[in-house]
Amino acid sequence: MNERDSEQVARMFVEGGYTLTGEEQEADAILVNTCSVRDQAEQKALGKMGMMGKHREKRAHVVYGFMGCMAQSRGEELFERIPHLDLVVGTQKYHRVFGHVDGILRKRMEERMDVLPMSLEGNAVEEEGIRIPDPALGRLVDTDVEEGSQNTIRDHVAVEKQASAFVSIMQGCNMRCSFCIVPDTRGQERGRPIADVVEEVKRLAEQGTREVTLLGQIVNLYGRTEFEKVDGKSPFVQLLEAVHEVEGIKRIRFTSPHPIGYRDDLVAAFTYLPKLCSHIHFPMQSGSDRILKAMRRPYRNEKFVAICEKMKTARPDLAITTDIIVGFPTETEEDFQATVDCVKRLQFDNSFIFRYSSRKNTPAAEMEGQLPERLKEERNQELLRIQGEIATRKNAALIGSRQEVLCTGPSKTNKERLSSRTSQNKIVILDGDQERLTGEIFEVEIEDSTGFTLFGTAVVEG
Ligand code: SF4
Repeated sequence: MNERDSEQVARMFVEGGYTLTGEEQEADAILVNTCSVRDQAEQKALGKMGMMGKHREKRAHVVYGFMGCMAQSRGEELFERIPHLDLVVGTQKYHRVFGHVDGILRKRMEERMDVLPMSLEGNAVEEEGIRIPDPALGRLVDTDVEEGSQNTIRDHVAVEKQASAFVSIMQGCNMRCSFCIVPDTRGQERGRPIADVVEEVKRLAEQGTREVTLLGQIVNLYGRTEFEKVDGKSPFVQLLEAVHEVEGIKRIRFTSPHPIGYRDDLVAAFTYLPKLCSHIHFPMQSGSDRILKAMRRPYRNEKFVAICEKMKTARPDLAITTDIIVGFPTETEEDFQATVDCVKRLQFDNSFIFRYSSRKNTPAAEMEGQLPERLKEERNQELLRIQGEIATRKNAALIGSRQEVLCTGPSKTNKERLSSRTSQNKIVILDGDQERLTGEIFEVEIEDSTGFTLFGTAVVEG
C-alpha cells in the first residue's frame, strides 16, 4: 500500500515538471514514506533520514520529508529526532505533498537568488561561506483528516511495459486489532466509487498493464459503510465483477482480506470470474482462539479454516499465503502449538511470520504477559522452519510441470534474467528477451525450485 501511495506522490511531481531520480545526492527533495507496523521499520526510516541529512551540506536547498504512518502517528515530534527535517505529511495528505515540497523549494530558491554568488555558482556553496537557508524555513506538519482523500490515490507513473500495477480501492480500517496501529494512522474505512476504480484500471490496461492488484487494509470489506449490496453481492464482489469486464486486463488479485466479511459471494466469485488469480493472501495471525481474542480478531480458528477449505473447493489449484504473529503477549506453548498445527493442516504456500513487536499506543503494548525476546525468537525460528519445509516441498512438486506465467520484467536479483509469476503468485525466473516477453502471458516448463522461487524455460510451441 505504501508503494502505491509513493507512486501517486511521484506521479504528481512528474506532472509538476520534476524528474524522479534513484540517486539521493542528486535529489532536490528526499521523501521517505514510512510504515509503523513494526518498530524496526520506524527505526530504519529514522536512521536513513538521519544519514541523508549530509546532502544538505552541499545542496542547501534540499527538502526532507516524512510521509505515511509514522509521520501520522508521531507528527511534530519527528522534528526533534531529525533536525534537518522540513515536512511531515500524514496518510490522508499524500496528494498535498507535491504542493508543500514545491512551495518550500521555491522559497528556498528565491532566498538563494538573493545571494549572488550562490545563484551564479549553483550548488557547491558551503565552501564559499554562503549561508544555508534557515532550515526551519517552511517547516510544515500536515496530518489532519481530509474527507475524500481515498479518491486521490488514482494516478500512475507511466512506466513502459508495466505488466502489473497496484490499485488502491480504499483507505483506513474500522477493526481494532489490539496489536495494530493502522486504525490510528490510516483512519476510518473509506472506499472509492466503483466507477472511479474501473476508470483507473481501464487507463492502466490502455497503457499495457495486464494484471491489477486491488489494495485495501481490509479489502473484502470495501464499501461496506458507503455502498449497498446488490443481488446479495457485497460492494467488493460488485467491484471485482466490474474490473473483470475491463478489456486487456487478464489477471486480478487483491490484498488483504479479513475472515470477517469473507462471505460465500466472494468464494463463489472464484468460480465464475476466471481472471481472479488462484491465490489469496489471507492473514490468520494465530491458530489459537484464546490469542485471537486477545488480539481482538473477532473470529475463531475454525471459521478461518472453513473459509480456506471452501476456497479450495471453489478453486482447486488455489495457493494460500498468510501472516502469523508469534510471541503475542500471554501466548503459551499450547497456543503456539495450535498455530503450528494449523500451519501443518492448511499447508500454506508461504507465510509471513513475525515476532510480536510492541507498538506504542496499542492495547497489546499495555497487556501483561509480554514474552521474552528469546522465546519469541525460538518460536519464530521453529515456525519458519516448518513453513520452509512445506514451501520447499510444494515448489519441488511443480518441477516438470508447465505453469502459465505473466512476465513482469528483469529479475530483481539478476538483471540478465527475467522474472514472472504464476497465477498462484509463485515467482518463476527464466531466460528470454526482455523486450519481447515483458507483459506477456505464456507457459513455462519448471525445471528447478527453492522454497521461494521456481526456475524454468519458456515453452516455445511448434
Ligand atoms: S484488520 Fe486489524 S491488523 Fe488489519 S489493518 Fe485493520 S486493525 Fe490492523
